[in-house]
Amino acid sequence: MAELISGKEVSAKVKAQIHEETLAVKEKGVTPGLAVVIVGNDPASRVYVNSKKKACAEVGFESYEYALPEETTQEELLGLVEKLNKDSKVNGILVQLPLPKQIDENAVINAINPEKDVDAFHPFNVGKIMIGDFAYLPCTPAGVMELIDSTGVEISGKSCVVIGRSNIVGKPMAMLLLHRSGTVTICHSKTKNLAEICRGADILVAAVGKAKFVTADMVKDGAVIIDVGMNRLENGKLCGDVDFENVEKKASYITPVPGGVGPMTIAMLMRNTLTAAKMQNEIE
Ligand code: NAP
Repeated sequence: MAELISGKEVSAKVKAQIHEETLAVKEKGVTPGLAVVIVGNDPASRVYVNSKKKACAEVGFESYEYALPEETTQEELLGLVEKLNKDSKVNGILVQLPLPKQIDENAVINAINPEKDVDAFHPFNVGKIMIGDFAYLPCTPAGVMELIDSTGVEISGKSCVVIGRSNIVGKPMAMLLLHRSGTVTICHSKTKNLAEICRGADILVAAVGKAKFVTADMVKDGAVIIDVGMNRLENGKLCGDVDFENVEKKASYITPVPGGVGPMTIAMLMRNTLTAAKMQNEIE
């Protein structure tokens, strides 16, 4: 039976450390500030924004919420981003995705000053992640790395399989594993022999967006299983991409959903905001 990797516990430790560092930064007269922008009334986005504001309060940051109506134009949103880029109280800018269809997400991401891009979605920061010289962590993949490290399992030389190639999760996830010398395979919807490839994985990261997609027959005995998926079932319950009940019988370590990767993503966002505040105020 697999040992559970608790994102709640690991994220609490990370946030405690950030809180301590924040106290030191505040003594130098700087309070890290995160602007959280939400457009429209998507209930899932509202939950994420509330969690991010709550995390800011926990670690001692200021958060500034900008809730804009569904019919906001791209020009209006870009105007707000420009204002926040210039606001010295705001160290990090987070625009909650997805945005309403009249707004081009890339245009908004590109408008954020890369120094305030605490989601690390701007091409400048994405490029830095690619070459392995980055200040801002890609939040979800970096959270996954913390979870893997919490097990003590060595990544170097291991066969790592990532299912999913999105810009937000799959691709940067593969990069971080590669930087740690994992032998990385990225799978996607066109991958042939997916089950066979997954069975070769010592570390398997599922970021597909399909409930219970990874079944026990796709998992090697003793593998480390990281479930990034957050799928809402018809009964309203949250479910990962992994068939947890059956896979936990084969894995060595496994993350639950909820309480696995989710809390880590937010902790990493806090880490990036602190980094931003330090860099912008030239604090070591
Ligand atoms: P996404 O942009 O929809 O990407 C999904 C990926 O899965 C795509 O690359 C897609 O392949 C691949 N895929 C879909 N069906 C497949 C199949 N049958 N076989 C193999 N690969 C398949 O999603 P995302 O933004 O990366 O998010 C993935 C999941 O993680 C979602 O459930 C999301 O809610 C969750 N998530 C969680 C957190 C967190 O903090 N815990 C953060 C972000 C995302 P193609 O590229 O070929 O279409």
